[in-house]
Formats: sequence, C-alpha cells, structure tokens
Amino acid sequence: MSHLDPREMRPATRCVHANQAPEPVTGAVMPPIFTSSTYAQDSPGVHKGYEYTRSHNPTRYAFERLVAGLEGATLTQEQDPSQGGFAFASGMAAIGTALELLDAGDRVVAMDDLYGGTNRLFSRVRERTQNLQVAYTDLTDDDALRAALTPDTKMIWVETPSNPTLKVVDLARVAALAQEKCPGALLCCDNTFATPINQRPLEHGFHIVMHSITKYIAGHSDVVGGILVVNTPELAERLRFLQNSVGSVLSPFDSYLALRGAKTLQLRIERHNASAARIAEHLADHPKVDRVVYPGRADHPQHDVAASQMSGFGGMITAYFKGGIAESRAFLERVRLFALAESLGGVESLIEHPAIMTHASVPADQREKLGISDSLVRFSVGIEDVDDLIADIDQAFA
Ligand code: PLP
Repeated sequence: MSHLDPREMRPATRCVHANQAPEPVTGAVMPPIFTSSTYAQDSPGVHKGYEYTRSHNPTRYAFERLVAGLEGATLTQEQDPSQGGFAFASGMAAIGTALELLDAGDRVVAMDDLYGGTNRLFSRVRERTQNLQVAYTDLTDDDALRAALTPDTKMIWVETPSNPTLKVVDLARVAALAQEKCPGALLCCDNTFATPINQRPLEHGFHIVMHSITKYIAGHSDVVGGILVVNTPELAERLRFLQNSVGSVLSPFDSYLALRGAKTLQLRIERHNASAARIAEHLADHPKVDRVVYPGRADHPQHDVAASQMSGFGGMITAYFKGGIAESRAFLERVRLFALAESLGGVESLIEHPAIMTHASVPADQREKLGISDSLVRFSVGIEDVDDLIADIDQAFA
C-alpha cells in the first residue's frame, strides 16, 4: 500500500487513509488495541520505538496521525512519531497540557465566549496556580483585538465558532495582527465545533489546533478525549515532552474507538451541516423563536468571515426563545428525539440549556454580558432524518 500525502486527498479520503498504513506484522487494516503497558527491549535502551505506553502506543499513534493529517499537518514520522498529533484523556486535559507551554505569569489573550470548562480552567485554576494573566476579549471585535494584543502576549486562545453563542473569529486576521503586535505568541484554536472537515486553523497561520474528540471526531458519545495538533518539529518536541511528563494520555481502547469514529467524520459532518442549516431556517420562521444564531445564515454577524474560512457551517445552532426560563424549560422537557443532555457532536441530536447546564460555571455577570440568558437553548443536530427532527421540534413547541 503506497503512502499517499494526505494533502493530495480530499477530506473523505483523508478520514480513512491520512497517515494510515496496515499494521506491519499482520497486515491488519485497522490497528489492534495494543493494551500492553510496556515493551520488551533487545538490550538496555535498544527497542523498536516503544518503551512504555504513556510515552508511546501504536493504537494512539494511529489515531494521532489521522487527526494530524485531517488538520493538514505535514510532519513526517521522522520529524515526529505521531506526525504532530497528541491525544489526551479529555479535551480539558489537552487544553491543560497546552497551557504548560507557558511560563508562570505569562499573558494570555482568550476569547470572551469559551466553553464553560475552559473558562473555569483559565480563571479558577491557572490564574491561581500558574498566575496566568488572562485578558478575556471579544476577538470578533477588531478594536478590542488590537487593544488586547500587547508585545508581552504569549498565547492567544480562540474558540470559533464559540460555545455557546457561535461567534466566528477571523483566524487569518488574528494571525496577521499577532504577527504585527506580538510575534512569537502561540496561536491556539479550539476547533471542536467546526471539525477539520469544516475549518483548518493551521492553514490560516495558527500554531496549535485543539479538539475535544468527545464530540464530532469520535462522534458516537462513547469516548471522552482530546487532541492537540501542531505543524513544526519544535512545537511537536515540546508537546511530546509535556504529554509524557504530565501524563494524561488517551487510553489504547479509547484511541481505537476514536479512530473508528473519525473514519466516518466527513460523511457525518456532511449530514450535520445540511440538517442544521434546515433546522436553523425552520426555527427562524417559528413564531415562538425570537432569534436564531447559525453561522450559515446571512443574518449571522460574522457570516462573511464564516463563509470565507469554513467549508460548512456545522451542526450547532443557538436559539433565543420568546419568553424566559419557563418557556425554555417546557420545550426542553417535551422534546422526544432530541435528548436533553450536555455535550454535542454525536450521531444523536442533543439539546441543552447552557445557563443551567454547560455554562453554569461561568459567573452570572459574564453570562449576562455574553448573552447566555435563560431563553437561550443550544441544539446539537445529529444525523437522524431531518424531517423527524423538525417534527420533534414542532410537537415540543405545540
Ligand atoms: N472545548 C469545547 C468547545 C467543548 O465544547 C468542550 C466540552 O464540551 C471542551 C473543550 C472540553 O472537552 P472534554 O469535555 O472532552 O474535556
């Protein structure tokens, strides 16, 4: 089997083949789940590239290489054994390890609208334990972005589309301004909502891409994991050291499940994109809905940016219902196909109330400023038949 360069493949082909090869001993086309914690050496320090599973694991490597290929990283196995992909036990563990690239007291410019757990890690853990100086900024606002980027900024942490208000940040613009105002700052993008099918931040000048693989990449709501992808040997070396030193790695079994899920990512995302677009239109026309936020709609404030940097607009929709908590609660209790649950990106449709659920850890005044109100409901549109999903929404409103 020839080793094709993933850059020569279209996305659906990349999902199946990027940086993948049959297992060398048996020819198995899917890598076995290598559960061994350790590996025999021929002589002290003489081994086959594997010493201990926290440091190296063939099943994890297969998954890490695939996602690296999907994100368009170009490192060879000679430059880095997992070609720039580093998988962790959760999305939060991936973010936590990325923050270890910083020194105590460093300045970070972070998106103001972040997943609640990311906000909690930054503001309630690392500001205390690492003395990070985090400036939470609306990175969709050019003036605010310019003002925030000081010469001592060491990292910019972007989420786009953001969770849950689906703001879209212009990645190329952030990269250009960072080059001008704080060259050397690490540009990181949480690409969980977009997935590498819809958006590839490395192509816009970003240095680190992060995913909660719990979501679309694994795609079946049966794995918790995270990944970082980089595209320079220097950053790969630093993250390899940190992944092994901090040690919150993705297990071989979960690596296998995530790899299995990722093979169908393009097919699933095609459906998520199409169904969410239809449901967004349906909600926008509904008399009980005040406002719909979906990057694919012309009325989205950053629709033009989304259209230029994304090839699809994703499966997430945010809707502001008319009324308050009582109306939102009634709807959330009545849906039958949409499961009322945290998380997103699985094959099944989920729905949730960010103010009470995923973003409860964001302080109330910050939630109010961001518009995470009692009338905001977040939809994760799954791959079911879209007409069944629309019927479910209609019966819940009725
Ligand atoms: N980033 C985003 C955008 C998320 O939505 C989440 C989880 O919901 C995370 C990071 C954290 O990932 P995990 O739950 O896998 O730790």
